Amino acid sequence: MIKELSELGEIIRDEKSKNERIHIALKQEIISIDLVIHDDGRFERFQPIDKVRTTCEAVTAKKGKARLLLDRAEEVLCYGGNKAKRKHELFIKKLKLYSDLRELEPVLKFYESNKANGFDKARQRFENDIPKEKDRKGNIAFRLFNAEKRIHEEEAVYQKIIEIDMVSQEKSLSKFRTTCSVCGKNTYAIPEIHEKIKTVPPVDDGKYAARSIVSYNDNAYESYELRRNANSSICARCAKNYVEGLNWLLSAGPRVKNKKGKEFTAYTNRKNFGSDTTMVYWTRKNELLPEIDQLEAPNPDNVARLIESVSSGTERDSRYLEPDLFYSCTLSGSAARIAVRDWIETSLFDFRKAIAKWFQDIAIDEYNADLKKTQTHYARLYDLARSCQRKNLDGSNDKVDTSLARVAACLWNVALKKIPPPLWILTKVLQRARLDKDGVTAGRAALIKIILNRNNRGGDFMVTEKIEQSDRPVAYVCGQIFAKLENIQYATLGDRNAGIRERYFTYAMTSPASAFGRLFDLNSKHFTKLKNEKAGLAITLDKELQELCQDIDINNLPATFLLEQKGQFAIGYYHQRQKQFSGTKAKDNKEEGIE
Ligand SMILES: [Zn+2]
Repeated sequence: MIKELSELGEIIRDEKSKNERIHIALKQEIISIDLVIHDDGRFERFQPIDKVRTTCEAVTAKKGKARLLLDRAEEVLCYGGNKAKRKHELFIKKLKLYSDLRELEPVLKFYESNKANGFDKARQRFENDIPKEKDRKGNIAFRLFNAEKRIHEEEAVYQKIIEIDMVSQEKSLSKFRTTCSVCGKNTYAIPEIHEKIKTVPPVDDGKYAARSIVSYNDNAYESYELRRNANSSICARCAKNYVEGLNWLLSAGPRVKNKKGKEFTAYTNRKNFGSDTTMVYWTRKNELLPEIDQLEAPNPDNVARLIESVSSGTERDSRYLEPDLFYSCTLSGSAARIAVRDWIETSLFDFRKAIAKWFQDIAIDEYNADLKKTQTHYARLYDLARSCQRKNLDGSNDKVDTSLARVAACLWNVALKKIPPPLWILTKVLQRARLDKDGVTAGRAALIKIILNRNNRGGDFMVTEKIEQSDRPVAYVCGQIFAKLENIQYATLGDRNAGIRERYFTYAMTSPASAFGRLFDLNSKHFTKLKNEKAGLAITLDKELQELCQDIDINNLPATFLLEQKGQFAIGYYHQRQKQFSGTKAKDNKEEGIE
């Protein structure tokens, strides 16, 4: 995983370096003030600038170090508290390292031979020229009077920085002569400290803590007298690359506004699962993946096209002739570290096949009351996970139930690896279907369908998208009968009383033999009442009920249903209800003369 992240970091840097100069020894920094001097080192003026980015020497872990030609007032002007003296010395020491560069002559004169007109004057004028204290805190850079570039931006300076970096790399290399475990080379030294990863959840006090993904901060993990990350054998270049790659994945995306006008990042390579887990994904060549957006917000036409193209192989023949790889990793922060929950690597072609299969497996019919027709429902992956989350009495999601991230991460894995979802998710979704007011929603039915089908080892009943007419298992038919009984009760009483679903759904699903005895007693009362009021409707509904009952041995129902049978019961109930919705509406329309 570190290798793939490191390769991505390299690609991102290559893209950036088309416009900017980027080398491992160089870095982007922001400048706030130009210190303008003359060739002879004479001070001219301070020029405040509106924070611009510039490429300069990269200094990691700044403590005890100064940057060449670009730093804060403490270093450049020996300005500020008692630490300034030491910092200024470091700055001058760094300058001396580069004293053979012709470009630096004016700066050296500023500090030495022409100090009275240079440094001393600048020091006197600083507070006056930059009146606000907060403006004095930014980086200061040297610029020659009337020159276009700043001194540190001269090509010769960059060259020298790179050169010195190589020499110091070689020096430290002699200390740890280890081959990098990621790139297999020994060009760069093995650093003891890696930079931090910035935005892995959870947030503490509204902020992301910077965390490490590779870290040996406990002595117990250190060996062979190697300090800290030197134990991981990752070279400086690869360490820099993987950190940049991962930070890019976690933050890439345009800034957009939501409906309330609040700005947020529309991540292109990241999905959050709940509040403590996030997933990042990319391809080896860092290409965009429209299929992922489908998981997030499926559009039936696009899904249909995806399934079609994958099954017919046309996409493979044209676009994906070249094999590209797809990667994804799921991360959670814990204290200062990052835990890798999951790592997936697959070919882009298999990835697309897996997504297409996922959609086929979660496709389920749903009656759309607005359009007055039944259509295929493709749930968002996140909504499927959401449908397992416990709810509060007011219908909002119970935040204490932290299973959301676990279920979402698990379903993601299921989708990409084409594996069966674990049965504990079935237990969870059935529990929500029994206890929540909205019951067996399309999302829950879709989830139950994929769990049952992918776990169906050699069993002969496969749940289909549409209602099943023949060869159904007993539990499925019981679910249908339950929906029909509910239908009759509703026709008789309306929604004045608690429906039989609230009172009997769990009972019927777990102990069918005794529950259905009770339910049929109750139904005969409803039927008698309905026959007196709406004879025609009573006869139609009863006929439909009798037809369903004929398909199974209604007087010999099992005492209990097992977990998978409970799932079949829920699906039978769901399918029957969708059918009833569409049937009722068609009838209503006829009566009202709409059709
Ligand atoms: Zn390396």
